Amino acid sequence: MTLNAVSNWQFSSPDGKANYEAARRRYPAQAIVDMAALRDNMRHLVDVVGGPNSGTAVMGVVKADAYGHGLLPTALAALAGGATWLGTAQSHEALLLRKLGIGPDRCHILTWVYNGLEVPFDELIDNDIDVSVGSLPGIDAVAAAARRLGKTARVHVKVDSGFGRNGFTEESFDAALAKLVPLAKEGVLDIVGQWSHLAVADSPDVPEFVASTDRQIENFKAFTACMEAAGIAPRIRHLANTAATLDRPEIHFELTRPGIGLYGYEPDPAMGTPRDWHLKPAMTLQAQLGTVKHIDKGHGISYGRTYLTPDDTSTAIVPLGYADGIHRSASGFDMQGAKHIEKLGGPVRVMTAEGPKLYRVSGRVCMDQFMIDLHGSCDSLGVHEGDTVELFGPGRGEQYAEPTADDWARAADTISYEIFTCLRNRIPRLYLNAADVLAPDDLAKLDPTTLL
Ligand SMILES: *Cc1c(COP(=O)(O)O)cnc(C)c1O
Repeated sequence: MTLNAVSNWQFSSPDGKANYEAARRRYPAQAIVDMAALRDNMRHLVDVVGGPNSGTAVMGVVKADAYGHGLLPTALAALAGGATWLGTAQSHEALLLRKLGIGPDRCHILTWVYNGLEVPFDELIDNDIDVSVGSLPGIDAVAAAARRLGKTARVHVKVDSGFGRNGFTEESFDAALAKLVPLAKEGVLDIVGQWSHLAVADSPDVPEFVASTDRQIENFKAFTACMEAAGIAPRIRHLANTAATLDRPEIHFELTRPGIGLYGYEPDPAMGTPRDWHLKPAMTLQAQLGTVKHIDKGHGISYGRTYLTPDDTSTAIVPLGYADGIHRSASGFDMQGAKHIEKLGGPVRVMTAEGPKLYRVSGRVCMDQFMIDLHGSCDSLGVHEGDTVELFGPGRGEQYAEPTADDWARAADTISYEIFTCLRNRIPRLYLNAADVLAPDDLAKLDPTTLL
């Protein structure tokens, strides 16, 4: 009899249950993604911008394998929730979405990271994928590909309103307009949009950051005015990420680009919790315990002996490590005063005979596993090898023994985005509620062995 610290998953069919059991045999940890949560988060974001007829569209940002949630299932759930755009950083993911059956009749796709010299612009244009231009060589390369194909390229002009990354600065903008205007007149480029990215929209508590966002907005508007004056007014202006979609309605313009909100998280705990923003974390990361055993007081745990057991205790192995994307910086140190190193490790929810308890990574995270100190005897706690534990899920936070990716981010000194995107693909991704969320022809596009 094993104990389970996660929800009792509701399988859609006997096949779903068989897929779950097969995944557990294949790998001792699983990432369960709730497609209904993805859809509902997108529905909510569409509501936040005023609904489907508001004049503001919403892009589901699905770059980096949909922040580790799986590109195609996430894209389809976002569309089911009312997204009419998808966005990827790298062009290969944009092309993959088209290849996997999301045609131009379904949605626009925008892609933005490339170097002007070695990107398949021909293929992007041919597949009706919108591209960003933010450098002079980029304009030349897109225009050359459009001429070769004899097809107008849809472009979004990226401006650097203050982020300091991609896009034209004020200084380079005249030269950009000098190239863009004739290309637009000639019909080589269709100047669809103007866009930029915000640096600190997730810190509404820091007055200087609010002021900096205000300045970015003013700069953005000044770039729009330049484009209008040059006769290439952008039809679609977009600036808002999740943070600004949620709390800066004045810059929703014609399109917003939420990423982390689709996955159910606020961008920064400084903004509150997912619940405060009516978002539901879509991913649960669970694992089945390896060896559980008694350990004497004062025993060193893991490499470097950075954790010495404070009492006679039991430990359990969680079979996930940094090669799975568990941050080594989420290691937990406790030297019992010897060297005064104390640092809380990443949280793990474990079901015990006394109910659910929160434990922490004890000692260094290894390549494929880490240990947790159970602070008691495994016999009296009723914890066994094979029990299912939860690293993070849709709960209320570690103070309720319901850890979230924000809690892991705090332990690893990073952000929830990195917690998700670091999870390696050797961890099976399994999808809940796919049949409820997707129409049959979309359902048929997914790998059936991944559906619960
Ligand atoms: C990743 C990204 C987004 C989404 O940001 P979130 O904070 O996840 O909402 C939007 N726009 C661009 C350009 C991005 O790179």
